[in-house]
Amino acid sequence: MRAVIFDEFGARPEVREVPDPVAPPDGVVIRVEATGLCRSDWHGWQGHDPDIRPPHIPGHEFAGVVAAVGAGVRGWRPGDRVTAPFVCACGQCPACLAGDQQVCERQTQPGFTHWGSFAEYVVVRQADVNLVRLPDDLDHPTAAALGCRFATAFRAVVGQGRVAAGEWVAVHGCGGVGLSAVMIAAACGARVVAVDIAPGALDLARRFGATVCLDGGEFSGPGAVAAAVREATGGGAHLSLDALGSHATCVASVESLRRRGRHVQVGLLPVAQGRPALPMELVIAYELELRGSHGMAAHAYPELLRLVTAGVLRPGELITRTIGLDAVPEALTTMDGPGAGGMCIVVPR
Ligand SMILES: [Zn+2]
Ligand SMILES: [Zn+2]
Repeated sequence: MRAVIFDEFGARPEVREVPDPVAPPDGVVIRVEATGLCRSDWHGWQGHDPDIRPPHIPGHEFAGVVAAVGAGVRGWRPGDRVTAPFVCACGQCPACLAGDQQVCERQTQPGFTHWGSFAEYVVVRQADVNLVRLPDDLDHPTAAALGCRFATAFRAVVGQGRVAAGEWVAVHGCGGVGLSAVMIAAACGARVVAVDIAPGALDLARRFGATVCLDGGEFSGPGAVAAAVREATGGGAHLSLDALGSHATCVASVESLRRRGRHVQVGLLPVAQGRPALPMELVIAYELELRGSHGMAAHAYPELLRLVTAGVLRPGELITRTIGLDAVPEALTTMDGPGAGGMCIVVPR
């Protein structure tokens, strides 16, 4: 098969022929029809993920058709249209048995623990635990756009964030996951304050339902962005998300909250960059809640898919660019530059 592969961290990936994957006994081979390009792929290529051992094929947000099935798989057949969460679970550890597959103790992730989806085929292990059946009227690019970002945003806003109609929701950072959160919170009847430093991202946030858009670049000094959010929301957001993952946005998100507010951390905060200095005195005085959000279990997808097929949520509108495998090396290696906003989808053939 053709695949995008890199031989060393940071070295330019190339598109070349590699052996077709074989289905493991508990897994399937999926013919990739569409796959999203995500910042996590860039981090993996840079060597920021300890699971990756080059030569390696990145890619973890995909949709496709089951091409081959391992002998131990019961629920899936060739021809089934599927996607999978970016955290693939073992199905047997205490977290999995409690229904919390998104924090499985023995996770696998195509594109990280094994070769990923920037290829014509990809393997998903523990298929009976991890595959998600696609509704007939959901196309593959839209399903790939659910990816890690839209599904993660859904769990962050609806599950961990417990959003309610009429609440104020602040979203700090309007990249793929932040824009997804804006659309989901607005669809739930919340009033959304979107914060970013890129005017293009704020234009998209407005289009996806944000009531107030704040250009973070216009504020200077510690606490200024959070003060603007509190001002815009009449005393602070009920729910605030750090959808970027930086010390500044994390602290600003917590300081944006009103009393009894909920902060959900979605953007990754690698410990190598130190830990943010959180205002724990506010956490006590205001009885704030701080929660994390880490992907979404396969069994939680039907609720999300119902809202997508009903047209309430429109992840396809987040797709701003579609490219082939040959364009992935350039797109991946230039991802640390300023983003164009929205999502890039790769169609391998
Ligand atoms: Zn597990
Ligand atoms: Zn991703």
